[in-house]
Amino acid sequence: MARPLHADIDLDALRHNYRLARDLAPSSQALAVIKADAYGHGAVACARALEDLAPAFAVASLEEAAVLREAGIAKPIVLLEGIFAHDELERVDAWGLWLVVHSEWQVAALLDYRPRRPIPTWLKVDSGMHRLGFDPARAKALWQRLRAVPERVTALHLMTHFATADALEPGYFQYQLGMIEALAQRLGAPTCLANSPATLAWPQAHGAWNRPGVMLYGSNPLVGENDATRDLRPVMTLRSELIAVREIATGEPVGYGGRWRAPRPSRIGVVAAGYGDGYDRHAADGTPVLVDGQRCSLAGKVSMDMLTVDITDLPGADIGSRVVLWGEDAADGTRLSIDEVARHCDTVSYTLLTGILPRVPRRYR
Ligand code: PLP
Repeated sequence: MARPLHADIDLDALRHNYRLARDLAPSSQALAVIKADAYGHGAVACARALEDLAPAFAVASLEEAAVLREAGIAKPIVLLEGIFAHDELERVDAWGLWLVVHSEWQVAALLDYRPRRPIPTWLKVDSGMHRLGFDPARAKALWQRLRAVPERVTALHLMTHFATADALEPGYFQYQLGMIEALAQRLGAPTCLANSPATLAWPQAHGAWNRPGVMLYGSNPLVGENDATRDLRPVMTLRSELIAVREIATGEPVGYGGRWRAPRPSRIGVVAAGYGDGYDRHAADGTPVLVDGQRCSLAGKVSMDMLTVDITDLPGADIGSRVVLWGEDAADGTRLSIDEVARHCDTVSYTLLTGILPRVPRRYR
């Protein structure tokens, strides 16, 4: 029998979450962000599942777009970081990709290039994230230059990225929104604004296009919850089994470094999943795990191929018991939120999802 570890991907849940994003922003078009192999879920499978719903997809690079085009995905694909070299414009043009420009050299390259048909282009503005994008004062001049060449550039939008839309506290977010709105108004420009947190929490900040990513996969990126986040469905379930069970005495250590010590006579379940699969090695003792649909806790450091859980309070648990590390137990519908697991790992769902390694087979339903 194969090692019992799988990432089960529920494409119905993906579609449900996409519809939720779309319905939250009815006057905006929702670009489905499927970069980083659709946050670890498989970009081609996710694109196929969303192709009849999403008007366009977004990826980080030409290589990611190539995988989709080679798989026959025909919908528009936006390159969120634009091109990395001049010669990439030829493929942008040939493959009908949409471009984000955030640097002077990219604008110059675009203005120099004679495409087969005009390239849909989004001008990225730094409204306060201070990562990619033009200063708003500079963006105005570039906007006008790009507007002046309709034979090369079409569907021009302003785009910006919010740094704090997850915080449920308006200060800096409002500042960024004010900045981009003022510029858009001055230029009469349509915008592409909201990521998942802004889609979920800030209806005034969606823009003509929004760009939900992590919410499509069922994770709540907000610091708190709202009605919409409660409606999200987990897409990935990381599923395994107990492959061994140990009885240990009070005071005995478990795993590398003996970080966890049994506070009482304990039963320890060994799960076939470790950091060699992408399960976070920073997971603390107490990180929740579902065994046969019931919660128990990680006990001891995560190893490369295994992790250990305290099943003392689950007398029915034994070798072969079902384990869910996040997602939904198919047998009884119990859920374990990846956001909760991420908090115990001192990280966010994004890193857990994108961290699941190729040796974990993805199964789609
Ligand atoms: N837009 C840009 C430019 C991004 O970099 C990302 C994600 O990193 C997204 C949208 C999607 O963000 P989220 O996954 O928070 O929805």
